[in-house]
Amino acid sequence: MTTAKFSEIGRILREHQRFAVMSHVRPDGDALGSQLALALSLQQLGKEVRVWNEDGMLEKYSFLPRAELVTKPPSAPEDFDCAIALDTAIQNRLGTALAAVHSKLWINIDHHLSNPGYGDVVYVDPDAPATAEIIFRLIKSQNLPFNRDIAENLYAAISTDTGSFQYPKTSARTFEIAAELIRAGLDVGRLNQQLYENYPRRRLELLRELLRTMRFEHGGRVASVSLSLKTAAELGVLPEDNEGLIDHLRAIRGVIVAVFFEELGDGKVRVSMRSKNEAVDVCAICQKFGGGGHALAAGARVRGTLAEVEEKVLEEIGDVLKSHS
Ligand code: 5GP
Ligand code: MN
Repeated sequence: MTTAKFSEIGRILREHQRFAVMSHVRPDGDALGSQLALALSLQQLGKEVRVWNEDGMLEKYSFLPRAELVTKPPSAPEDFDCAIALDTAIQNRLGTALAAVHSKLWINIDHHLSNPGYGDVVYVDPDAPATAEIIFRLIKSQNLPFNRDIAENLYAAISTDTGSFQYPKTSARTFEIAAELIRAGLDVGRLNQQLYENYPRRRLELLRELLRTMRFEHGGRVASVSLSLKTAAELGVLPEDNEGLIDHLRAIRGVIVAVFFEELGDGKVRVSMRSKNEAVDVCAICQKFGGGGHALAAGARVRGTLAEVEEKVLEEIGDVLKSHS
């Protein structure tokens, strides 16, 4: 894959007028924060921008500055000069946004190792801990508009995708960028409260139920929890409520791989995986099941019942662990 230069992307952004800025289905803080930050910068540049995500804005990120810009895509497609996919490892993870955008020119900006480099102009940096870090570098290097609203969106994106500046790809540069974002005037304490101390009660009720399903395999090196449709309905949880709960499993001493199984309505199970050891690449494991992601954080949607998928996936993880021990 050849990676574009920021100058090429900067030139394209200045030379075109109508943009669609999109991110992956079931968005996280990095997807939504990156979208808003780039869209706000483009708007300041006088561009016309649509900010689309299949799921629209999530309740828990609706405090982000100008969150109302993120909407679900319309059912009838619209024409654009340039489509921009952010934080999206494969193009079809854009979901309904993909079909809603007609554009000759596609830009793909991402940090997923498994990104195959779709689109005309590709900037994929697997060393970046968050797509938002790439957006910050693009904005600064190309002198694109920057302000406190953009800074808050980028900070929220970087903080959430690094597990609050903890995951291994967090670098000196990440902290330097965070410092620059804080200098733009954002209130770190207030933003962190909005991000991490404002959960709905049902999220903890979900955690309580998940911990009842916790199991350990392969000598305690693999920990997993499962969420059935029935439990999700009884608790009234939203898909967004489980972001980050897998970290409780990863935090256990001796656990190398943490797995979250979530029954979906379509005969599939969403598998979410985390690794604590660079030698155990969960992206490679998830790719065997049609998914992808990063070496230490990946996912897949696997056909089958909860019990079937649990068995298959835990066995595959066991095989990988055996080959490393
Ligand atoms: P999460 O477990 O938080 O849903 O996802 C972890 C990482 O894996 C994210 O970076 C996400 O983009 C990627 N990922 C999650 N599910 C899938 C999937 O079904 N397909 C692909 N290609 N990547 C996924
Ligand atoms: Mn990301």
